[in-house]
This record gives sequence, structure tokens and C-alpha cells, in this order.
Amino acid sequence: MANSDLLSGFMTTVTERNPHEPEFIQAVKEVAETIIPFIEDHKKYKEANILDRVIEPERVIIFRVPWMDDSGKARLNRGFRVQMNSAIGPYKGGLRFHPTVNLSVLKFLAFEQVFKNSLTTLPLGAGKGGSDFDPKGKSEGEVMRFCQSFITELSRHIGSYTDIPAGDIGVGAREIGYMFGQYKRLSNQFTGVLTGKGLHFGGSLIRTEATGYGVVYFAKEVLKKRGDSLENKTCAVSGSGNVAQYTIEKLIHFGAKPVTVSDSQGFIHDPDGIDEEKLDYIKELKNVKRARIREYAEKFPKASFNEGITPWHAKVDLAFPCATQNELPEEDAQILIDNGCMGVFEGANMPTTEGAVKIIKDKQLLFSPGKASNAGGVATSGLEMSQNAQRLNWSREEVDQRLQSIMKSIHDNCVEYGAGQNGYIDYVKGANIAGFVKVADAMIVQGVV
Ligand code: NDP
Repeated sequence: MANSDLLSGFMTTVTERNPHEPEFIQAVKEVAETIIPFIEDHKKYKEANILDRVIEPERVIIFRVPWMDDSGKARLNRGFRVQMNSAIGPYKGGLRFHPTVNLSVLKFLAFEQVFKNSLTTLPLGAGKGGSDFDPKGKSEGEVMRFCQSFITELSRHIGSYTDIPAGDIGVGAREIGYMFGQYKRLSNQFTGVLTGKGLHFGGSLIRTEATGYGVVYFAKEVLKKRGDSLENKTCAVSGSGNVAQYTIEKLIHFGAKPVTVSDSQGFIHDPDGIDEEKLDYIKELKNVKRARIREYAEKFPKASFNEGITPWHAKVDLAFPCATQNELPEEDAQILIDNGCMGVFEGANMPTTEGAVKIIKDKQLLFSPGKASNAGGVATSGLEMSQNAQRLNWSREEVDQRLQSIMKSIHDNCVEYGAGQNGYIDYVKGANIAGFVKVADAMIVQGVV
């Protein structure tokens, strides 16, 4: 049977078995497109039925999260943890608090995590979790009570050798701190059960910066392979949260010129470029004041705020989507291409839609999928786990060196499986196959479990 028929038969079954889960189906399709032809050439994976097994979570936990708001009213949210795959290590992946969180979004994120964690070269299985709780506009007390209620139930299902959650959208150092405190109180143990902890209680240096820095380290390797560099490249970055901030920071370190930043209301275009001082302002605005990005244009009048528009409308050499899934649709990819953009490096998970990826690859632009280019965050979480287990803290330089060498090895692994005969490197194919092989081999030798 032709690979296209095998793919369409496989996707029909996946769609029937996972109704109302469009994001999960989209993520599975993107992997199946490259894995099915590979499996056809490597029958041991087909005989062990690995593809069907790898798309099914080992366990999904859904629970009630009741909490009391400041007016004394009982409020309710839904909590989730998708424990996707533990073939190569304990479940590992972030928690997301955002109103758009549902089972489809978390299954897609947990599925992507399988390949990403495998690529890091560290012994990390895959999971993802979160809640439809929205921390925006809530008081400190409300956020704390919600976090305590959420982790009170989740604590039964996690542990430093079982499942080690971290942060994601809406879950930063503040939320991790509250959850760690409550977990410690419940378990009566000080263990590395969460990563992204504060530096004074078991956190790792560079963890905060790691995802954004890693994206730029990866982009540097991709450009180097082409005999090019980041120097003087004009860059569009979306989002203004953790990943966006440290992507911008490392771009500045490497002599690139980031000119955009955004949030869900619109984007800032700063033609002069965002420098260290302006970045400090963004960090204060988003992390301390928790305000909207439009205020940037009031502080720096040469910049404009473009309401309801994505950063992909700016004329740039490189694009770094760092906000959320499906934020770079096909029509915006066409605008980037028409404006002479050379490459797209995903900082967020699946920010580029299926149609957009297709035209970007058809035009042979550089393109790195999030599961490869944003793996620096989880890799450094893995380094935090190692430090916790050894009761040691490594220096900033040591962690950063390890992060750089992990990003380089992810890059080289992608090239091994993704290099085409015409010289074009398909990083999507490379990341999918390199990530798959390690997990699939472990699943085979562990038997049908
Ligand atoms: P943050 O919560 O720190 O920031 C998210 C940013 O994205 C905010 O600026 C937010 O704006 C913006 N955003 C959210 N939804 C939308 C939308 N629909 N349209 C436009 N902008 C939007 O999250 P992170 O920076 O941690 O995560 C960003 C992405 O990176 C996610 O896809 C996450 O899964 C991924 N990632 C994160 C890792 C990490 O270590 N943190 C690791 C690997 C991947 P607003 O304030 O308006 O909501």
C-alpha cells in the first residue's frame, strides 16, 4: 500500500478514536507523515505496533479543582495531567494555566513532549498538565489558593521518580513556588518533584532563560550549517512571556536585531530594535506589573502598537513564534515569505499551522519545529533534577555550557535523519525520526506494557 494511503487510513482511525481533539489530531498527523514511511522501511517498529501505542497516553487524570475567591465564593476549575510515555524516564512536562486548556490541547502537548524529551539525550519520559484557570486578574491570595487546591489532588499522582511537572503558559516561578510549598507540606518531604523552582530552594541557574536561549542556540546552529550567522539579522518575535523574553535576550547577545514583541491583543513594532534596556522594561512590565504590552509604545514613542495584528506583518529576516499554538497561519507565512524572510524557528509548541508549515517548506525556508528548537527548557529541567538528586548546585556557566551542547546535539541528530539529497534539511522529519527511534527501541525491549 502507498504511504499516502497508509497515512490516510491511520488518520481516519485516530480521528474516530479522539473526537473533538483537533490539536491532538494535528500533532499526530504531523508526526505520522514522516514516521509512517520510516516504519515501512524498518519493520520491527511496525511488527511491535509502536505507532498505535505511542499515540495513546499511558494514563490521563482529570480532576475537580475547587477554590475560594476573595469574596468568599466557591469557584471551580478542571485539572488535568496526561502521563503520556515513560519508556525512557519518568513523566516530565509542564503545567499550563489558561482558559483555553482542555484535553485536546494537553494531549497534543504531551505527545510533542515524547519526541522533544527523547531528543534532549536525557532520561526523560513525557507528560503535560494544567487547568482552565486564568491567573490574569486574580489576586495573590486567589492564585495561591488555586495552586494549593490543584496540587493537593495532583500530589497523589506525581513524585520525583514518577512524574515531575514544570511551568508553561500561566505557570511561572510564583505558581511553582506555591505548588512546591503545598506539596512539601502534604508529603513531608523536600524532593525535586517540580522543576522551575526558585534558586534558593532547589532551582537551577539558567532554567528561567533556558527555553528562549535554547531556541537561539538552535537557530545559530541551523544558520552555521548554511555558512551564515545571526549577526545583523532583523527578527520578529511573538509573545512577551518567558520564552519570548529570553529569545530576545539571546538574539541581542548574538548581534541580531529583534524588532517585535506581542501579546494576545496585538504587537509592538520597534524599528530601532529592542535593546537590553528596553528588554528590562518588558520584563518589569510583564513579570512584575503583569500589564499589557501596548504600554511599550507609550514608553518608547518610536515604536507602534498594532492592535489585533500578528508580528508576522513586519519585514524581517527571521521569525521566532514564542506565544502559543497555531499563532502563525498560512496567510501570515505567505506575508513572511513575500517580505523575504529566510527562516522560522519555533519557540512555542506547534505555533505554525499545518498549511503554513507546508508553504514554508515548499519554499525551502529554514524551519525548526518546537520539539527540537524549544527543547532547551525541558533539558535544563532535566539538569535541575540531576542537581537535586546530587544535592548540588552547578554554576551558571556550567549549566549554560551543558544547554549549548544539548542544543547542538539535538541539531546534529535532526540533520542525521532530516538531510535530503538536494541539500535541504527537513528538521521536522529529522526531529520526529530521531525522537521516535530512542523511545520506540526502549518500548520494544520493555515488552508489551
Ligand atoms: P507565558 O505565559 O510566559 O507567555 C505566553 C505569551 O504568549 C504571553 O505574552 C501571552 O500573551 C501570549 N499569548 C498567549 N496566548 C496568545 C494568543 N492566543 N495570541 C497571541 N499571544 C498569546 O508562556 P511561555 O513563554 O512559558 O510559553 C510560550 C510558549 O512556549 C507556549 O507554547 C509553551 O508551551 C512553549 N514552551 C514553554 C516552555 C517554558 O519553559 N516556559 C518550554 C517549551 C515550550 P497574553 O498575556 O495576552 O496572554
